Amino acid sequence: MRRAVPLGCLAAVLGCDWVVLRRRPRWIVTGIFDHPAHLATAALVLLNLAPRPRGWGRGFLAGSLIADVDHLPLALREEHPTLDDPRPVSHCLLAIAPVAAVAGARRSPPLAGVAAGMLAHFVRDLGVGTGVPLAWPVSRRALRVPYPVYAGACAVLAVRAGLRKSAPNALDAATAGKARRCARGFRVTRGRMPNFRRSGSLPRGL
Ligand SMILES: [Zn+2]
Repeated sequence: MRRAVPLGCLAAVLGCDWVVLRRRPRWIVTGIFDHPAHLATAALVLLNLAPRPRGWGRGFLAGSLIADVDHLPLALREEHPTLDDPRPVSHCLLAIAPVAAVAGARRSPPLAGVAAGMLAHFVRDLGVGTGVPLAWPVSRRALRVPYPVYAGACAVLAVRAGLRKSAPNALDAATAGKARRCARGFRVTRGRMPNFRRSGSLPRGL
């Protein structure tokens, strides 16, 4: 089971990228495959990190997707870009700065996670498509790495996570928090359910 999660994440990255890079669906459809691959990449990173403060891991997963919010105006255009078009210049390190600054000022682990997750997003974008203009506004030049470098890094992360002893990791911490909240919510809901049989009345409309 411990190895299933990293291997599943790696399979998700490679499978989604096979569709994106080989089948080359329309740009608007690409997101259906690209975003799960971003999430899987972020999960592979979390699997290799020690547990972080509460909320950091969930912020990291959210940040791994949130960087693509600058694609929304492109999606509203009549003519969509293609995978060969450059990414918006807002895909740059400067975009992370305000989030990191607020995270530092408020000492907020979730926001610090978002900033780190945005960085993880850009790491994947370096290896897929036309690269990322990381140094904008100093330079508009898109930086890239060959796709096998990115895929190889994901494979290394998956193997490393699979070989880790049973020490808890940042993904465990993030998902355990969510599971705890769900269980708590379920208990609260059960506790508040009216006992219609005991009261002998049914609510109106039933
Ligand atoms: Zn992106």
